[in-house]
Amino acid sequence: MTTLKRVDVHVEGIVQGVGFRPFVYSLANRLGLAGRVRNDVNGVHIEVEGAHAGVAEFLTALERDAPALSEIERVTVVSGEPAGHSGFTIATSDPSGPHRALVSADTATCDDCLRELADPADRRHRYPFINCTNCGPRFTIVRGVPYDRLRTTMAGYGMCDDCAREYHDPGDRRFHAQPTCCPACGPRLRLRDARGVDLCGDPVACAATLLRAGRVVAVKGLGGYHLAVTASDERAVATLRGRKHREEKPFAVMAADLAQARRLCEIDDAAAALLTSRARPIVLLPRRQDTPAARVAPSVAPAGRHLGLMLPYTPLHHLLLAELAEPIVLTSGNVSDEPIAYEDADALTRLGGIADAFLVHDRAIHTRTDDSVVRPGSGEVTVLRRARGYAPEPLALRRPAPRPVLGCGAELKSTFCLLNGRRAFVSHHLGDLENYDTLRAYAESIDHYRDLFGIRPELIAHDLHPDYLSTRHALQQTGVEHVGVQHHHAHIASCLADNGDPGPVIGVAFDGLGHGPDGTLWGGEFLRADLTCYERLGHLAQVPMPGGTAAIRQPWRMTAAYLREERPGLDVAARNAERWPAVLQLAASGLNSPLTSSAGRLFDAVSALLGIRDTITYEGQAAIELEQRADTSETGVYAAAITPSGLPDGGPFVVEGGDLVRAAADDLAAGIDPAVIAGRFHNSVAAAISRSCVALRQATGLTAVALSGGVFQNALLLERTVQRLRAAGFRVLKHVRVPPNDGGISLGQAAVAAARDRS
Ligand code: ZN
Ligand code: ZN
Ligand code: FE
Repeated sequence: MTTLKRVDVHVEGIVQGVGFRPFVYSLANRLGLAGRVRNDVNGVHIEVEGAHAGVAEFLTALERDAPALSEIERVTVVSGEPAGHSGFTIATSDPSGPHRALVSADTATCDDCLRELADPADRRHRYPFINCTNCGPRFTIVRGVPYDRLRTTMAGYGMCDDCAREYHDPGDRRFHAQPTCCPACGPRLRLRDARGVDLCGDPVACAATLLRAGRVVAVKGLGGYHLAVTASDERAVATLRGRKHREEKPFAVMAADLAQARRLCEIDDAAAALLTSRARPIVLLPRRQDTPAARVAPSVAPAGRHLGLMLPYTPLHHLLLAELAEPIVLTSGNVSDEPIAYEDADALTRLGGIADAFLVHDRAIHTRTDDSVVRPGSGEVTVLRRARGYAPEPLALRRPAPRPVLGCGAELKSTFCLLNGRRAFVSHHLGDLENYDTLRAYAESIDHYRDLFGIRPELIAHDLHPDYLSTRHALQQTGVEHVGVQHHHAHIASCLADNGDPGPVIGVAFDGLGHGPDGTLWGGEFLRADLTCYERLGHLAQVPMPGGTAAIRQPWRMTAAYLREERPGLDVAARNAERWPAVLQLAASGLNSPLTSSAGRLFDAVSALLGIRDTITYEGQAAIELEQRADTSETGVYAAAITPSGLPDGGPFVVEGGDLVRAAADDLAAGIDPAVIAGRFHNSVAAAISRSCVALRQATGLTAVALSGGVFQNALLLERTVQRLRAAGFRVLKHVRVPPNDGGISLGQAAVAAARDRS
């Protein structure tokens, strides 16, 4: 008789909702072991007993063969006396104790489910809610932990006998798949008109007919409602723009598959991998030059060489796109900058004036989540918006936080971050906090994450800007320690945390605007920074923003601020002749003209100078279009003077951005193509950064540079800057997992608070 061995195994990480228990069950059975497995609030708990060799193999295979969607963070094994289990069972969840289990992100429909979806003999043939342990809704339907059907928005659907059989069959792909359902027992699809009256016929076929006829159809997705029109139909796209009050910001396009996507954009292997990844983000891709204009209507993405493209990620998308056989615009269901609609009644009210029909269903969305946006670069990916498919999965940090932290983020592109131990839960993108609905969603989401992940923050980190609603939210919380973190320090700390690097580094934080402790607006900063502290070693020369926020909406004002002297023959002055002299005067007087060192405003000034964008309709537009226009083959460079500090204590040096604007104006006057000038300008900013860093290396001995801030969403600038820095011998840190824009600020704040707490 062989001696028996028993172990208690505890597995932590992303192990719920990813088929972990079924995997354990079949593994134990294959090895002839007895015992049981169950979810608890900390992860998955396994008791297993049997022959020594079998138990040893079990422990090896547990980590080696874990399900694709799982992410094991820690396995704890304790040996004990065999309890005499007969067979192996899956026990019910234990919901007691402190909550620490992880919830996985929503996942695109898997190939197995797609096969069944297309199979006329399958009972889920063309069923828009097909899913299994490897795919389907997760975070958006979860109300609480542990992850069980009862704590999701599927709780109201009793399983039919067939579904229940699969659910309880360890050999089935849907064994313990919480959202599993079928046409007999699950949610149903409906097509309604704008008054909420059901339209008859097959909802998908009818919706496709409406789209073909140029109508706007609202489609209920995973994280909210989208608005769809046929992408090639200029009139329909223009109608959607008009009704949505979205003038120029590009729309995303959904293609049926890679083959269709390749007809629109240049797609290399890295792009294809992103498009087909289980997160299925919107991928910004270069448009094909040889694409007939008719394939995508001009107003889908005006003034852009790139297109935001995604592939279907729910069965409903697959059915709709297959029916249509051509790409659709699929944009968030909202008016202008409001948050995306996700509740049915609200959607009908808010989108009633936009959509001609609603393709809806009765599976509720618990958490509103936007589509994620990524951009492949030379070999690497930049996340521009981190939401559906990525959140709420935590990022592992290098060192644990002594106490739990909440980072409250900034104002635009807001996120928050809950940090516990080494796990940083950066929330999905929540939007601009200036909006009341967004602010409410922000506060509710913080509570939801706190409950889901059982984190009670003892430190609350926030921006230094007193008027950010995120700062106010932070300061309203009592019984916690408040930690103020300077905006650009948070950007660089975010980049450090993103890369698992403790610093110190030369931090280059280039963005729109952030609150500077000297009372001016920062945004073109060279810092010496680690996770605890920073020192401002240099910055772009300050210029006035004539009219304050008016200068953000009207980039031509920044051209005036930079070109103080009257220049004859400037087109930008002629275009804005009525107000140009007054704005020059305003800038000179300093009245209502706060000083800024913002790199974003420098890009604005050049964009307006070149006649690309005088006034904007969405944030960052002037700089985005400047990048899109730039001749990327151009190698010319303008020189910006780098002026040592005039201060007795050797304060920060100054980079004369004005030199670049003047050089660009000279080229323009000489009749040089604005695209060439835009290319030279990008090269020049990269060169100025590189030269500044070389000077800082001499002064500090630091050889690593971290690049952060919204300006580094600019792929051309990022590429040119990285090239020059690497050529100069620097190690360069870029963002990988969180955005360089203010969506990454919350992670940086939390990392700083934790580092200060450690020291
Ligand atoms: Zn599946
Ligand atoms: Zn069923
Ligand atoms: Fe910023």
